Amino acid sequence: MLETLRKQVLEANLELVNRGLVLYTFGNASAISREDGLVVIKPSGVAYTEMKPEDLVVTDLEGRVVAGALKPSSDLPTHLALYKQFRVIGGIVHTHSHYATVWAQACRDIPCFGTTHSDYFHGPIPVTPNMDPSEIEGDYEWNTGQQIIRRFDQLDPASMPAVLVGGHAPFCWGPTVEAAVHNAVILEEVARMALHTVMLNPSCEPVPDALRDKHFLRKHGPKAYYGQQ
Ligand SMILES: [Zn+2]
Repeated sequence: MLETLRKQVLEANLELVNRGLVLYTFGNASAISREDGLVVIKPSGVAYTEMKPEDLVVTDLEGRVVAGALKPSSDLPTHLALYKQFRVIGGIVHTHSHYATVWAQACRDIPCFGTTHSDYFHGPIPVTPNMDPSEIEGDYEWNTGQQIIRRFDQLDPASMPAVLVGGHAPFCWGPTVEAAVHNAVILEEVARMALHTVMLNPSCEPVPDALRDKHFLRKHGPKAYYGQQ
């Protein structure tokens, strides 16, 4: 089970490089085995090209390393906070992909301007407010997770599988780590399209709710009918 998960997390991390979402050792992907209460995550600061399945670090939900000789990614506490709070998610991806990060730095939600966005994200992609100095100086990575959780007070992580951390970059998730990578790739494209949309028409309005709902709900939820059954 964990061997499979380690391979999946390695492949997910490599896919982030192949898709151009990470530079050097930026970014990280993880997956959780809910059954075992264990998380598999990228090691800290190891070059992607040299990473092997056994380099991936296995921890419990308190961040204690249970397998692997390397240090886990420094963002582990953010991943753990999200796994604990969002019970529906099975994988998390963090990148500093260019266009999504541009929106995070501008501290702006990404408005839902079209059906590409609506197919994956049910509404504007939320940005978190800046953190207080005490949160930054304290348990920063854990507090980043708490900031995301607070922002999702009225949001459903199953229908909004991404967040922009203000002044930082996106976190994406999904039922599996592969789905989380897929969402990170789509988020980057949606962020790019949205930036160009506001450049071309600064007063552009989001798509009507009916079109947004149609596209999201035909692919997700109990009444989904898109694709092969
Ligand atoms: Zn980061």
